[in-house]
Amino acid sequence: MSRIVLLLLALHAAASGKDLRIGVFGLFHPSELILRAASGRALRVDVAGAVWNLEGSRTARLRVGRSGVLCTAGNRAGSSAVVLATGSRGRTEFFLSVPGKIERRFVASLEVRVRGGELVPIVITDLETAVASAVAAESVPGAPLEAIEAQAIAARSFYLASPARHRDFQFCDTTHCQFLREPPEQTGAASVAAAETKGLVLVHAGAVLAALYSASCGGRTRTLAEAGMAVQGYPYYSIECPSCQTSAPDWESSFPANYATLLENRSEANRIELGRVLGWNVIPGYNYQVRREDGHIVVHGRGAGHGIGLCQRGAGAMAASGANHRVILNYYYPNTAIGYRE
Ligand SMILES: [Zn+2]
Ligand SMILES: [Zn+2]
Repeated sequence: MSRIVLLLLALHAAASGKDLRIGVFGLFHPSELILRAASGRALRVDVAGAVWNLEGSRTARLRVGRSGVLCTAGNRAGSSAVVLATGSRGRTEFFLSVPGKIERRFVASLEVRVRGGELVPIVITDLETAVASAVAAESVPGAPLEAIEAQAIAARSFYLASPARHRDFQFCDTTHCQFLREPPEQTGAASVAAAETKGLVLVHAGAVLAALYSASCGGRTRTLAEAGMAVQGYPYYSIECPSCQTSAPDWESSFPANYATLLENRSEANRIELGRVLGWNVIPGYNYQVRREDGHIVVHGRGAGHGIGLCQRGAGAMAASGANHRVILNYYYPNTAIGYRE
């Protein structure tokens, strides 16, 4: 098959149905990737129109080449602007690693290209696998099933309603989009929650809502306006969250006095500016008080995350006291309904 036909097939696969294109391992800025099929599976790797079959423990090594992705496997070598890998009938199970840093199992098709001198691996997976994987990565271990189901509906809504957030793919695998890990076991809580809520989404004003959520609001969730973000459509609401008020862990950080303005005006832009200068963990959440002490600014807060939309800690507490996922979603996303999207 020619490279153009393969590219068209890849584009078609990405656009059809509810497949998602998720960029992975971007945090590692990979210059080398190792690919192998999962046990009992076979991978078809397309390199510039030639199809290589990877079976058993055979691996393919992908590196940044002068004119694209350099691919070697055994005594074969080739170079292509885009390297594609699929099972014999579409997506399959495989392992991808950044040598010495991370290895992860995926159930997907794979596309690898070069951008800015780095390899860009993109997994093309179906919506429900992505939802279960994101829920497994995002939800609190041991959370009650109804809270995990609420999380699954929020995660599905986010994937369906967000416009593409990156250049070569729609979503990344970090908290910038939705944190993503390996697909969970079929019997695990995340898989059960995704399956039980399959097709269910949050709807606002007739459209699916790209639902935001965070780990722990610290006592009260925030509106988009409070976060200094532009409001187009759903404004989000400031919702009291009793569980966070009484039991979210608190934290304290100290800063030189010249950060007073950035700390006192807690917009998303200022949080990003602080994170860039001081590190991303120094201000875990927004629910904090600022005081001056010996020429320093001391920040004392509760909770973690942006605090907009569903609060995972609060949802867990609601579910533990008997609320189902509808009640939880209705509480954190007022003026929305649960709809169904095939
Ligand atoms: Zn992203
Ligand atoms: Zn909360």
